Amino acid sequence: MKIHEYQARQLLAEAGIPVPSGTMVTSVEQADAASKKLFDAGASLRVVKAQVHAGGRGKAGFVKLCRTPDEVHEAATFMFNNKMVSVQTDPSGLKVTKVLIADGVDIDKEYYLAITTDRESEANTLIASSEGGVEIETVAHEHPDAIKTLRIDPLTGLQTDQVTKIVKELGFIGTQVDQATDIILKLSTLVKETDASLAEINPLIVTPGTSEHPDGIVMAIDAKFNFDDNALFRHPEIREMFDPTEENPAELSAAEHDLNFIALDGNIGCLVNGAGLAMATMDIIKLHGGSPANFLDVGGSASLEAVTEAFRIILSDEKVEGVLVNIFGGIMQCDVIAEAIVAAAKDVGFSVPLVVRLEGTNVDAARRILDAAKTELPTMQTATDLEDAAAKVATAVAATCA
Ligand code: ADP
Ligand code: MG
Repeated sequence: MKIHEYQARQLLAEAGIPVPSGTMVTSVEQADAASKKLFDAGASLRVVKAQVHAGGRGKAGFVKLCRTPDEVHEAATFMFNNKMVSVQTDPSGLKVTKVLIADGVDIDKEYYLAITTDRESEANTLIASSEGGVEIETVAHEHPDAIKTLRIDPLTGLQTDQVTKIVKELGFIGTQVDQATDIILKLSTLVKETDASLAEINPLIVTPGTSEHPDGIVMAIDAKFNFDDNALFRHPEIREMFDPTEENPAELSAAEHDLNFIALDGNIGCLVNGAGLAMATMDIIKLHGGSPANFLDVGGSASLEAVTEAFRIILSDEKVEGVLVNIFGGIMQCDVIAEAIVAAAKDVGFSVPLVVRLEGTNVDAARRILDAAKTELPTMQTATDLEDAAAKVATAVAATCA
């Protein structure tokens, strides 16, 4: 599960990591009110940031530094009325429904800091770089030497001396060393306590020195967290941060019915049972020149209602120009699938070609149900095996698209 930057900042602040204060707003009016209050109180620099589950906002124009309430108004108006398109989104971009108005800070130097699970070393790993503010993938490509990593021992955790050593190597000096060490240790505790699979601070910054803080202050000004879905049951406070507006609506409604729906780029909707059969089905569709629009895995024992919902989800996808049903009935009974096909035909209707291949438990009953409903299913063809099914659906879709 992903969360927004404003929520990640809240977690960091609660863990004692310095973060400039900010307010999340959901309209231009709220943005105006928030910025007026702060400029009236003497603030000189604000930063307006779109809250979407993707990075690269800076370059896309969705992080704007503002010196007056008018500039905040203009930036918020732009963000609420345009989709955010960056290297991390698809070309259609993301709609912005939340914007963060935060204190702007002067920056002397930007660093990169993250903790994430490394499958190879089977442990969480600290990743840090003196090249902050840019994407870590770019740094890894262009200056791999600028990235330092440290495996975090799952039993003993990070040790202060280990962290201090890396912090000095990164170029932190004077009082910055203790500040950065403290931030890394606190971040590591936070990751462990929340079962985060990724915690990224990019950038971690140092402010210019002042008479009070000659070496500047080290703080986080952007943060990203992902959490292990399987551990969310023990973190209700994190589960509450879930924002459904950031998710694909079809995937959400599938999850509500315990179905696995994955959206893809092609035009053939696939209803299957089991992930392995889904993979094989997609391969064989490709082999016959077709391209899957999605796959919906109804799993082992979905109810008639859930399978009917599955067809509703597949048919509501505008990209779908044909549907392939490939079920190998074990615990899943073929007659349940057949009844769901008939229910979906009555409910939404199959205006596109439908190819059905059923095999296994209760297949004879299923065939009788489909035979009896032939007039309601004018676009249906049945197939003898997977090869035949894939060839039929690919041909039918190619013919309707021609
Ligand atoms: P993203 O990673 O999505 O591009 P960031 O929050 O990292 O968004 O912002 C991009 C850049 O904008 C930062 O590297 C920094 O230079 C500047 N910036 C972000 N927040 C602030 C802030 N509070 N004060 C000053 N500059 C900021
Ligand atoms: Mg960033």
